[in-house]
Amino acid sequence: MPLRPLAIGAVLTAQVLANIALSPYAGLVSRLPFPDWGAVGHSALRTRRLPFSARLANWNTGARFTLDEHTMERAIFKAAIVGAGPAGLTAAYELAKQHAPVVVLESDPEYVGGISRTVNYKDFRFDIGGHRFFSKSREVEDFWTEIAGEDMLDRPRSSRIYYRGQFYTYPLKPFEALSKLGIVESVLCVLSFLAARVHPTPNPKTFEDWVSNQFGKRLFRIFFKTYTEKVWGMSCDEISADWAAQRIKGLSLGSAIKHALFAKRKPKDRKEVVKTLIDTFRYPRLGPGMMWDACTEKVRKLGGEVLLGRRVVGCRFDSTSNLWIVTSRDANGDLEEYRAEHLVSSMPIQELVAQIEPHLPEAALQAARSLRYRDFLTVGLIVHDRGRFSDNWIYIHDPSVQVGRVQNYKSWSPEMVPDAGYCSYGLEYFCFEGDGLWTTSDRDLIDLARVEIQKVNLAASADVVDGCVIRQRKAYPVYDDAYQQHVNTIRKALDENWPTLHLVGRNGMHKYNNQDHAMMTAMLTAKNILAGTRKYDVWAVNQDAEYHEAGAAGEQAAEVETQVPVRNGSSPGSGNRPWLSERIVEPRHAAVAGEVGSEKGLSH
Ligand SMILES: Cc1cc2nc3c(=O)[nH]c(=O)nc-3n(C[C@H](O)[C@H](O)[C@H](O)COP(=O)(O)OP(=O)(O)OC[C@H]3O[C@@H](n4cnc5c(N)ncnc54)[C@H](O)[C@@H]3O)c2cc1C
Repeated sequence: MPLRPLAIGAVLTAQVLANIALSPYAGLVSRLPFPDWGAVGHSALRTRRLPFSARLANWNTGARFTLDEHTMERAIFKAAIVGAGPAGLTAAYELAKQHAPVVVLESDPEYVGGISRTVNYKDFRFDIGGHRFFSKSREVEDFWTEIAGEDMLDRPRSSRIYYRGQFYTYPLKPFEALSKLGIVESVLCVLSFLAARVHPTPNPKTFEDWVSNQFGKRLFRIFFKTYTEKVWGMSCDEISADWAAQRIKGLSLGSAIKHALFAKRKPKDRKEVVKTLIDTFRYPRLGPGMMWDACTEKVRKLGGEVLLGRRVVGCRFDSTSNLWIVTSRDANGDLEEYRAEHLVSSMPIQELVAQIEPHLPEAALQAARSLRYRDFLTVGLIVHDRGRFSDNWIYIHDPSVQVGRVQNYKSWSPEMVPDAGYCSYGLEYFCFEGDGLWTTSDRDLIDLARVEIQKVNLAASADVVDGCVIRQRKAYPVYDDAYQQHVNTIRKALDENWPTLHLVGRNGMHKYNNQDHAMMTAMLTAKNILAGTRKYDVWAVNQDAEYHEAGAAGEQAAEVETQVPVRNGSSPGSGNRPWLSERIVEPRHAAVAGEVGSEKGLSH
């Protein structure tokens, strides 16, 4: 063999190895043994080899190469990302595209996508709620197109409310609503509305008072009370009026009628569109999980790792190396360790804070323990298709059943069912982990759903051929009266101590928002990591995934944040609260208008 090519090869190899060794960003996968057994508890500790070979990008040159696990001791990733939901995968994709080595650790052994995954049961696909892909952010819409391209369908939107044997178009059409209620009830509704106009509750403090002022007591009881209480598990007279004011901003029965009579103009651009009112939306043909499967594939092609079945159980910052040491546990109890310059977390703040070492101050730990969540389960039913309804979903306002909403996945995309002779429905039940519904056996839940679907006239029990149950922990971060204070306390502790720790996404930031918001926080985080500085304040991303840069970081949040249900009697206002740092501002009013029975008020 000629010597010259050999020598060039040796020099190039040496250069590559030197790059790996010298670049702070060139990453390899670390293997055990664990330096700190105490961090994760002794009992389950066992070391094992990583089951994959890492494909890593060279940060400096952009070159990609593969190394097997024997040469991967002490790897250092640019970012370790907790969670393969929309936020985690968006961050991974944006970083991997810039050749930054990333590893995503996802606890679910089977699915990526988080709450936006699609569960496959005997080739029937179940979406966890029904995920419309709609964003006012061009960046987010482009991201979806880049990832899923032709697989994105444009779907018509149709939804109704079921109440005492009648279906009402949603968003509500006042004349249709009044005619379906019958002449007597309609007259009573109008009288109750007029009474509310003449004698409104002064300074309404509760959701109930606020809505009753706008629509009258009777319409409140029919179209607002039951569903809101089903979703949040608290009475409408405990929910703050602030939330209603934001959700149903500017609307009353009077203005709704005026709108029905005179409003014909279509909005000129997407910014004008209120999310709830959109009459078409995009949807991947095999459900939202298809988007996140495709994204995972792209991240892997770019050299990033997306590892399933890895529950993160420890996040330790090593001040000697300035690296995060992230410990994950798999289903066998085996532990692995990953080292990274940055830690991006989309796991619930509550869980993250409990894991961080060195420990955060007690106030922050206590604040994290105090955050609350609402859980959710879907009973998936496979039903002979008798053409009973073609809506995407129906809100069940009827108090005689526990189900809160029924999804018809075939209307989201015909490919959600493998056989056109069947439909797949998702009956959604809102609950708290551990409560009666949550702990009911799958079999009993399917029986309950079978009875309730007939009761609400959407299918005959006899047409139900099969079913499954999908439980979703922490589906909703609860905005109780103290949540903002808790989040502020935690943020302050994190900002002061850990500039390389980044919170993203829904539970990751305790924000009751959609995919686009979660993704935008991840996009900005990736930019921050690549820039090596916090150029963007991710807390300033509003409900519509818009980033408002003006003013000091965080200030805009005051104007654009989502306002959410808080318990009556403690409406937030920044006041003179010592826990609020300059950069942390409480939400007050949203910039977007709502409408009758605003979607978020009613739903996710
Ligand atoms: C009923 C319902 C309907 C919805 N409808 C819509 C809609 O129509 N349109 C829309 O855009 N959005 C909708 N959303 C919101 C959307 O689901 C979320 O905004 C989005 O999934 C949030 O993404 P995320 O990545 O922040 O969090 P998640 O989706 O929660 O993902 C977080 C991931 O982290 C993983 N994880 C958590 N802890 C750990 C750990 N310790 N170790 C490893 N992994 C961990 C989880 O398993 C999960 O995969 C809806 C939500 C609900 C509940």
